[in-house]
Amino acid sequence: MKKEYDYVIVGSGLFGSVFAHEAKKAGKKCLVIDKRNHVGGNIYCENIEGINVHKYGAHIFHTNDKTLWNYVNQFVEFNNFTNSPLSLSKGKLYNLPFNMNTFYQLWGTKTPKEAKAKIEEQISRYVVEKPQNLEEQALSLVGKDIYDNFIKEYTEKQWGRKATELPSFIIKRIPIRFTFDNNYFNDTYQGIPIGGYNKLIEGLLDGIEVLTNIDYFTDRQKFNQLSEKIVYSGKIDEYFDYKLGVLEYRSLLFENEILEIENFQGNAVVNYNDSVYDFTRIIEHKHFEFGKQKKTVITKEYPQEWGHGKEAFYPINDLKNQSLFNEYKKLALKEKNVIFGGRLAEYKYYDMHQVIALALTKTKKEFK
Ligand code: FAD
Repeated sequence: MKKEYDYVIVGSGLFGSVFAHEAKKAGKKCLVIDKRNHVGGNIYCENIEGINVHKYGAHIFHTNDKTLWNYVNQFVEFNNFTNSPLSLSKGKLYNLPFNMNTFYQLWGTKTPKEAKAKIEEQISRYVVEKPQNLEEQALSLVGKDIYDNFIKEYTEKQWGRKATELPSFIIKRIPIRFTFDNNYFNDTYQGIPIGGYNKLIEGLLDGIEVLTNIDYFTDRQKFNQLSEKIVYSGKIDEYFDYKLGVLEYRSLLFENEILEIENFQGNAVVNYNDSVYDFTRIIEHKHFEFGKQKKTVITKEYPQEWGHGKEAFYPINDLKNQSLFNEYKKLALKEKNVIFGGRLAEYKYYDMHQVIALALTKTKKEFK
């Protein structure tokens, strides 16, 4: 007998929502469930004082893929926001990513030739055959001044460990530009949905049944019986009841403040490099949408150890966790009628455009 739904989709983040949208287009009946009290997963925006506050961290959409750009633009128009973060280091503000403006602010170098010579001189002091830790790796890539001003303390706060105790693979390369260009991303397309990310999710889930505040695991039997297939975008270890062990993450704590002023820092993102601040960044959300509200909302971002009750944000893709994930993946491949996908099910950091591309690939295969 045909079941009530073709798909029960666990998770209404980008993966689940794109899957649901494409399934509906293919004539399938879906039910989307989410354990949170809202849809959208980590791109959800909370409206505070008329400002779209990125509740789970600042999100800037960027991609080089025109098809993907057109895909998201069919649901909501994007503005022309360009991510140009600043970094506060030892009392001075610098432009990021590392470019001619940063080098001028740091050393007073005015031409690419002068800046290149300065960096080469800095690097030449730290020739390390095989960097043994993050500090050695960073010093050999960019030298002491950039490392001391922008990398050391920031990274130590991010990971809660000394740079000398962190593996070198965390930093594979450090992009450096010899142009006066503060655009953080190199991608052709970039922006923020006008009216916030919820519009994108609402567009994707239009006409689809959605239940929030529902955890799949409180009644998985019921949901399995309701549908032909499950699409699962939650944590893969949780799906298997953690029977092989727990996959580890880094977490973040977000502290919001409403300020009775129009403009706090004049920019959406300011990094706080120095260790005297426990937080790593302050986000001023109105600048994502060029807001003119009378008040402003800022969020301080505190990196956290992950544990019970904390949000799992960044997978720790070291050898131990990666090989545990590979074991779970083998189990997942044996699961009949379950499609796993998204950042938690694949234990991988994905940008938004990557997760959308992944969901589209899976749906193409499913509905071919
Ligand atoms: P999620 O959005 O996490 O969705 C998974 C959903 O599943 C959640 O809503 C969860 O509640 C639900 N769920 C889990 N388990 C269950 C269960 N048992 N029952 C019911 N529901 C369940 N990307 C960019 O492109 N640009 C950025 O600037 C950017 N900034 C980021 C900043 C931070 C701090 C972080 C952490 C990520 C950032 N990303 C950014 C990445 C982006 O957030 C992800 O690509 C995207 O959100 C992943 O979507 P997803 O559907 O895989 O996962």
